[in-house]
Amino acid sequence: MILKVDRLPYELPKPTEADPNAAAAVQELLGGKFGEMSTLMNYTYQSFNFRGKDKLRPYYDLISSIGGEEYGHIEIVSAAINLLHDGPREDGDADGLDPTNAPFEAYKGVRNTQSFIVGGGSALVQDSMGKPWNGDNVFASGNLMLDLTHNFFLESGARLHKLRVYEMTSNPVAREMIGYLLVRGGVHQLAYAKALETLSGVEIPKMLPMPNIPTAKIPESKKLIDRGEHCKLYRFSETDFLTLAATWNGTHPEDGKPLVVADEPMPSGATKPSLADMTSGFVPDYAPEEVLEISQKLMKKAQGF
Ligand code: MN
Ligand code: MN
Repeated sequence: MILKVDRLPYELPKPTEADPNAAAAVQELLGGKFGEMSTLMNYTYQSFNFRGKDKLRPYYDLISSIGGEEYGHIEIVSAAINLLHDGPREDGDADGLDPTNAPFEAYKGVRNTQSFIVGGGSALVQDSMGKPWNGDNVFASGNLMLDLTHNFFLESGARLHKLRVYEMTSNPVAREMIGYLLVRGGVHQLAYAKALETLSGVEIPKMLPMPNIPTAKIPESKKLIDRGEHCKLYRFSETDFLTLAATWNGTHPEDGKPLVVADEPMPSGATKPSLADMTSGFVPDYAPEEVLEISQKLMKKAQGF
């Protein structure tokens, strides 16, 4: 089961302008083959399908807790995409909600027109070319060595794609989110490398960093590295997954700092930003007064419970 916390794993800046083309590029990090939907569902299904977990507890715990963290990652990439559709927009709200003004004309030229037509300016479960994410991206063979090798490869490909999307946009919302995920994905990449080392004796952490760039070179990542986030593995549970230190121990290959399992179950995170409505795009509706009134009444009622 999963316990939900209505927070983001990390704080994102407020958007200064709508940047739907940056949002389209960032979609790769959500619904691409190496995106967060893939890491989430790969580790989730490997943990659901895990046979012999009582005997192989350290590996089961590792895959399960990293899977838990990935839920927060789909949430923060989606938040970034939504924020990139947010911000001051010439969407005709100021013109008195008149569709004849073509309030979303600018959207006909953006990279992903479905982000507005289908999603009302939001995250879609698809890659940067609009291809939907699908279950074929999940590899759960039941063979522990193969699954861990796949996970190491998946985190390495994910790191490459994050770096490339970072190179495609200087938008601070996108960059802050990518800087955070590069650090957390780096933890996962190292965690799978170390798990493979325990099984094979091969010093896989020596392959890192891969791709070969120090993570601290990215300023948005460096401030998290200075806080020790690159050395911390979270359990994502109050009560379970207690054996992480069996594989997560020793030092970080990039700076020699000690690897630690966090005392707290998850990052304290940040308040989830409240997204602006888009009334001329029918979000939540063209004339939302009635919806707002109903919602206010329901809130009053709920306070009575
Ligand atoms: Mn992730
Ligand atoms: Mn990951």
